[in-house]
Amino acid sequence: MTETNHLRSLKVLAKRYARENRIALHQALDLIAAELGFPHWAKLIATSKKSCLQVAPEQMAGLEAFVDRPLPAATFRNVDPETMNRRFAYLEQAEHGVIGDHSYRLQEVLHDVIIAGEGWSIRVPENPGVPPIVETFADQEGGCPVLDPDFLERALSLARDRALQVRAKIAADWPRRSTKPDLRGVVRHPLSRDESAVWFCLHCDGKITGAQIAQNLWHCPGCGASPLDIFDTAFWSDDDGKSFQPVKAHDAVDGDEPVFRSVDDRPKLDMNEEKIILLIRSALLDDATNISEKLGALQAEISVDDETGVWIALEEDLWPMGKDPVQALAVAELLGLEVEIVSSWSTIPFAWPGLGEMTSSTSEYTQMMLDAYAQYEGPTDKTPKDS
Ligand SMILES: [Zn+2]
Repeated sequence: MTETNHLRSLKVLAKRYARENRIALHQALDLIAAELGFPHWAKLIATSKKSCLQVAPEQMAGLEAFVDRPLPAATFRNVDPETMNRRFAYLEQAEHGVIGDHSYRLQEVLHDVIIAGEGWSIRVPENPGVPPIVETFADQEGGCPVLDPDFLERALSLARDRALQVRAKIAADWPRRSTKPDLRGVVRHPLSRDESAVWFCLHCDGKITGAQIAQNLWHCPGCGASPLDIFDTAFWSDDDGKSFQPVKAHDAVDGDEPVFRSVDDRPKLDMNEEKIILLIRSALLDDATNISEKLGALQAEISVDDETGVWIALEEDLWPMGKDPVQALAVAELLGLEVEIVSSWSTIPFAWPGLGEMTSSTSEYTQMMLDAYAQYEGPTDKTPKDS
C-alpha cells in the first residue's frame, strides 16, 4: 500500500467511526491517530510529511476492529499507555445518577459532554457557539422523559455545568494568548502557535477577528469548524482572503436554546424513478432466454410516469415481437404500476441479431460474432480506438 492509500484508508475508517458514534470527523481522526500512537491527527500528518507513514496490515486490522466497537470501549490490548489511559478516562468519567425516576449517565467524549438515558441523549458540544442537541428515538417518543420541560432543564444544567468545566480545562491547557487577545487583538493559535489579529476558516471562507475566535475556543463562529480548520493566512484563496466576508456569529439569543432531533434508524423505502427502472430492467433480464434478448433488456428504453405508469420500449430486432416480459409485468404489478410495452427500431450494437438467439452464453456469442465479422473484413482490429 502506498502512503497516500494509507492516509485515505485511515480517513475512510475515521468517517465511519464518526458517523457511527455521532462524533465530529476531527475527533474521530484524533482517535484513529491515537490508536497508532500519535497524540493527535495533525501530528500524524506532520510525521507522514517528514517520513514515510507505514501502517502494517496487523495495525490496519486492529484499527478496523477498533472502529467496529462502539465508543467508549476500553481496549485490553497492547497499545501505548497514553491511549489506554485516555480510553479508561472516558469510562471513569461517566457518572451515573437519577433525575426523578429516570437514570442517566453523564460523560465527556472528546470535549463534548453527553448526558443520556433510555431513549434520549443531550450533547453539549465543545464549541460554545453551538446549541445543545437533544435527541430522542422515534420508537420511544411516547414516554420519553426529556420531553418534560422540568426534566429537560435539570438534565441540561447538569450537562452545561460539566461543559463549563471542560472548556475551562481546555483554555487552561492552552497558551494564555490563545484565549486573551492583546491590545491589537492578536491571538495565538493553540495548536499551530501562529499569531494574528485576523483569522480565516477553511471550511466556510469566513474572516474572523482574534477576539471572536478566542472567545469561541477556536471554533469558527460562523460554521462551527474545529481549530484545525482555522488559519492565519487564506492560503487556499486566489486573493489571500481579501474577498472573504467577516463571519457573523449565530444569533446569540438562540445560541443556548437546545435543538431537538428525532432519530429514526429504521430503514425507509424511497421508491423513485431510478429504482423502479432498475427493478424493471432486472426483471427483463429474468425474462431474457438468450443473448439477443439480454441485450434487448439492457438496451430497453424504460421511463416512469406517475399518471401512466411504466413505459417500456423494446428493440424489435433484439426482443421477439409478441413475447410478454412476464417478470417485468409481475414487478410492475407489485409496485402498483400500469405497463405499456412498445416495439422500437434503432441501431443495434452488432449485426446479425439472430446470432444472439443461438446461445445464452455471452462468451460463446462474442466468439460467433467476431467470426462472423471476420468473414467480411480483413483481420479484425480488436483494440479500442480513440475516436
Ligand atoms: Zn467557518
